[in-house]
Amino acid sequence: MSVIGRFAPSPSGPLHLGSLLAAVASFVHARAQGGQWLVRIDDLDTPRVVPNADRHILNTLSAFGLRWDGQVMHQADRREAYRAAIERLRSQGDAFECGCTRREARAGRVGIEGPVYPGTCRRGLPAGRRARSVRLKVSNRPTVLHDAVQGHYEQILADDIGDFVIRRADGITAYQLATVVDDAFQQITEVVRGADLLSSTPRQIWLQERLGYPRPNYAHVPVLVDTAGQKLGKSQGALALRSERRSAQLWVCLSMLGQEPPDRLCDASQESVLGWAVDAWSVGDVPSRVELAAHAYQRSWSHRSGLAQ
Ligand code: GLU
Repeated sequence: MSVIGRFAPSPSGPLHLGSLLAAVASFVHARAQGGQWLVRIDDLDTPRVVPNADRHILNTLSAFGLRWDGQVMHQADRREAYRAAIERLRSQGDAFECGCTRREARAGRVGIEGPVYPGTCRRGLPAGRRARSVRLKVSNRPTVLHDAVQGHYEQILADDIGDFVIRRADGITAYQLATVVDDAFQQITEVVRGADLLSSTPRQIWLQERLGYPRPNYAHVPVLVDTAGQKLGKSQGALALRSERRSAQLWVCLSMLGQEPPDRLCDASQESVLGWAVDAWSVGDVPSRVELAAHAYQRSWSHRSGLAQ
């Protein structure tokens, strides 16, 4: 089976050092196995989409030498496929319409991502309620994965998450459903992304099983966090990407990914840095920490990208 990786940015702003890290990891991981690397724009969540951010992201990837294969896919063009998948889940009895307001849905006990849905509409909409969202039924069997970076990870979806939303009350397809439908459609075999999404993966595996899709391999790489422990946002001043010394910025990403690139690469071409990384790539050396403190790298980044005096 041929290897296919992907990078799926949300067009809510420009790439920064944290998103470049995930892009580099997914690119190198696919190319190191002789695979293709696809780019998909996760632009379903229209209220968060920033006009032209997708173009900006694609230009940045190209400028860093991260060349993708084939056409870039936009999730906004895939609504019919999501609708068909949701229909199928409903006809199989796996999904149900939910009439609960956000407040009602949050009345349950707390799981790992907030309140667990209390099951109110699982056996049918209560009389007099209209459908708002669509949810997927989960079970109390463990959903287990072996992540190439984080190792063994499991959840009991019924206890940890609850029946989760696949079509939101605003009509927008939920991230979990869209991702699974598109990963299957694009025949993705390697999902390499930030570890902030590790807790989503059991839901995605559960969906793959319900829809009869193959399961890709997963590798969740550390995410860069600021001093308050928050994932880097879109306007990260000092950690914004720069248009000069791009090789040095790739060098810093590889270094954060535990790959120990030689110093000379900071002054080499982007192609040389990425070529070195593809030859040397060892996913087992990527730190399994879920978070890396951005400030710990800021010095090295500023210095190598030519910001330091
Ligand atoms: N669009 C998501 C993000 O930018 C990533 C989705 C994924 O890789 O599954 O955080």
